[in-house]
Amino acid sequence: MKQFDVLILGAGASGLMCAAQIVAQSSLHVGLIDGNTQIGMKLRISGGGKCNITNTEVDASHYLGDEAFVQRVLDAFSRDDLLRFLAIHDLRPIIRKERYYFCPDSSEQIIRILRTLCAPCTMLLGRKCLHVTREEDQFVVVTDQGVYRAGNLVVATGAESYKSIGASAVGLEIAKSFGHAVKPFYPALVGMTLQSDQFWMKELSGISLPVRIRVGQKVLQEDLLFAHKGISGPAVLSASLYWHKGEMSIDFLPTVELNRLCGRDQKQISTVLPLPKRFVKAFLETIGVPDKPCGSLTLQERSRLEALQDYRFSPAGNFGFTKAEACRGGVDTSQIDPASMESLRQKGLYWIGEVLDVTGELGGYNFQWAFSSAVVCARNLRQNP
Ligand SMILES: Cc1cc2nc3c(=O)[nH]c(=O)nc-3n(C[C@H](O)[C@H](O)[C@H](O)COP(=O)(O)OP(=O)(O)OC[C@H]3O[C@@H](n4cnc5c(N)ncnc54)[C@H](O)[C@@H]3O)c2cc1C
Repeated sequence: MKQFDVLILGAGASGLMCAAQIVAQSSLHVGLIDGNTQIGMKLRISGGGKCNITNTEVDASHYLGDEAFVQRVLDAFSRDDLLRFLAIHDLRPIIRKERYYFCPDSSEQIIRILRTLCAPCTMLLGRKCLHVTREEDQFVVVTDQGVYRAGNLVVATGAESYKSIGASAVGLEIAKSFGHAVKPFYPALVGMTLQSDQFWMKELSGISLPVRIRVGQKVLQEDLLFAHKGISGPAVLSASLYWHKGEMSIDFLPTVELNRLCGRDQKQISTVLPLPKRFVKAFLETIGVPDKPCGSLTLQERSRLEALQDYRFSPAGNFGFTKAEACRGGVDTSQIDPASMESLRQKGLYWIGEVLDVTGELGGYNFQWAFSSAVVCARNLRQNP
């Protein structure tokens, strides 16, 4: 039975960053356990292979979770701290769409940095964690390839989406066994399926438009992609984080006012609307308004056309865990100390990354969270091993 000062469950974004930060400034014996035979699988496939690392606007308003808790952790290791850390290791992310920081060439650039920094750790890959117990003052981690002990345990097992690359809900089982409250994982950052009244959108598969989506109190402005199964694209993915059944509203003309475009003149509706023709045709059909000169619209037709800026509907559901880029739910943060990420129920037990009940919108927020929480945890472990 191998014994460590710190065992980290999960060699993904948060686990690797945590290990790297511990071994960089201490002689603690750190072991990293992962069910995959390769490290950082989600990092690898993220952001279309270029990993959207962080965002120009990072604050708790972009996360679902306890706002004060999230902000405290983000402040402790901010976007600028992360960019400085990457620059020291010769990685200067590039900004796309004015907001999103991506690896210039490939996700492998950030994985390489973490792999190099983690060299002093013992890598226990291809070992699936089954459960964890506590014996005397040690954590006992039982895997399908052996049993490992440590004085401190960091749970960095992420959430349940993309099981095909190792994701699991083991973190929630471990949390429950130590008396932590948890919320089940639910797919988030995921496309949404439609009810039959909205099937007209399926005909538009492949078209992408800038939109503004309102869901509850949240307003999200980004692109929407019509997909074969429903609707997707950055705006919908972020909206899915905040949607819990019920209505949402889409503004298909987020930057212009319909009444300004479609006035009293004789131009056809499809000519004045700055939207793809296929979309306009399908939309007019669904609201029962013929494509005709704007000036000849009846009051009733004009009022129906206003749905272009406030199209309300209730999605049927979402594309599920296999397509979700994240999950909401996780370990309740009220029992975690945001200054250290240590459990308030069990000394020496730490929680970082997506396993916690904190989920960011699309746009690099989840890696920022993974890295910020990892650094907070590592700092504490270095000082109080
Ligand atoms: C397709 C896709 C694209 C994404 N793109 C982005 C993006 O561009 N930007 C962004 O911010 N976020 C993105 N995300 C979300 C991001 O990947 C996660 O939020 C982030 O990886 C969470 O980090 P983590 O360390 O908590 O978990 P992970 O990175 O998921 O790491 C958890 C690790 O634990 C291991 N594990 C789980 N269960 C067990 C077990 N029982 N035994 C042993 N090991 C186990 C897993 O194999 C995994 O390696 C994307 C996600 C997906 C699926």
